[in-house]
Amino acid sequence: MKPAPFDYRRPATKAEALRLLSDHRDDDAKILAGGQSLVPMMNFRMAQPTVIIDINRLSDLAFVEERGECIAIGALTRHNDVMHHLLVRIHLPLLAMAYENVAHHTIRNRGTIGGNVVHADAASEVPAVLTALDAEFVIESTEGVRVVGADDFFLGVFTTAVETHELLVEIRIPRPNARAGVSFEEVSLRKGDFAIVSVAVEIAADDGQIESARIAIGGVEERALRAEAAEQALVGASLSDDVIQAAAAAQIDAISFFDAPGLSAAYRRDTAKALLERNIRAAAARAGRMN
Ligand SMILES: Cc1cc2nc3c(=O)[nH]c(=O)nc-3n(C[C@H](O)[C@H](O)[C@H](O)COP(=O)(O)OP(=O)(O)OC[C@H]3O[C@@H](n4cnc5c(N)ncnc54)[C@H](O)[C@@H]3O)c2cc1C
Repeated sequence: MKPAPFDYRRPATKAEALRLLSDHRDDDAKILAGGQSLVPMMNFRMAQPTVIIDINRLSDLAFVEERGECIAIGALTRHNDVMHHLLVRIHLPLLAMAYENVAHHTIRNRGTIGGNVVHADAASEVPAVLTALDAEFVIESTEGVRVVGADDFFLGVFTTAVETHELLVEIRIPRPNARAGVSFEEVSLRKGDFAIVSVAVEIAADDGQIESARIAIGGVEERALRAEAAEQALVGASLSDDVIQAAAAAQIDAISFFDAPGLSAAYRRDTAKALLERNIRAAAARAGRMN
C-alpha cells in the first residue's frame, strides 16, 4: 500500500521548521526524521498527515556533547551515531547496551533518537533507559523553549508531551554516579524486534551498601515504568541475593500485568521478575560490590 497524498516541506533551518510547524498547527502536519516508524505507518494508512515537514537538513540537531553534568544528544542524531559515540560508551554505557537490542543496523543507520522517543512505543528500549536515567527533553516552538522530565514526557502509548506545533530538539541525560554498574536485558521474539519485556538498571554501591538504584521496565505498561518499589527496597540495603529477590518481588506485586493476544499476563510477570533479578545482580556485580 502507498501513503495518502500529502504536501512535502523541507526546511533548511530550525527557525524555518518551527515557523512551518506554527503555520500548520491546525493541519495534520508531521515531522519526518528517519522515517523508520512514520513511513510504514503512512504506507499502512495508519497515519495520514496532510503535510510532511522533513527535518533531515537540520544537521545542527545531530550531535552528542558534554554539557556540564549532562550528556546532550541532538534529536536528529541517528541511532548508530549515538550507540557508537565515545561519550555515550564512556558515560552512558546503559544506553549503548540497550541500543544493541534496537532494530537492525540498517534501521539504526537511518532512525533517530528523537523520532524514537516521540514515536513512544511502550516496548521501545530507549524510552526505558531515558526513564531510568532521569533524562530531560528540550522542546521548541515559535512560542519558546520548554524542558520536560521523562516522567512528564512519556504520557502513554504513542503519546508524549510534544504538541503538534512543537519540535523536540535535544535530550539531556545526567551522567551517572562514577561508582555505578549498569545492566540492560530484554526478551523479544527475534533479535532486533521490539521487546516483550525489557529491564534497565543502574546501581551505585559503596562497600556492599547500595547508594542509589535507578531501574525502569519496558513493555509492561502503556509507557516505560520507573521501578520505584524495587529502588526503595534496594537503596540503603546491603547487597545480597535475598535483598535482590525481595526488591524484584516488591516491584512485581506493584504492577497490574495485562493479557495480550498470544501473550499471557502470567508470562509477562514471570519474565519481568526474572529480568529484574538478573539485571540487578549484573549491575551490582559491575559496580564491583556484590557480597
Ligand atoms: C523493522 C523495524 C524494527 C524496529 N525495531 C525497533 C526496536 O527493536 N526498538 C525500537 O526502539 N525501535 C525499533 N524500530 C523503530 C526505529 O527505532 C525508529 O527509527 C524509531 O522509532 C523512529 O525514529 P525515526 O527517526 O525513524 O522517526 P520517524 O519515523 O521519522 O518519526 C516517528 C515519529 O516521531 C515524530 N518526530 C520525529 N522526530 C521528531 C522531532 N525531532 N520532534 C518532534 N517529533 C518528531 C514524527 O513526526 C513521527 O510521529 C524498528 C523499526 C523497524 C522498521
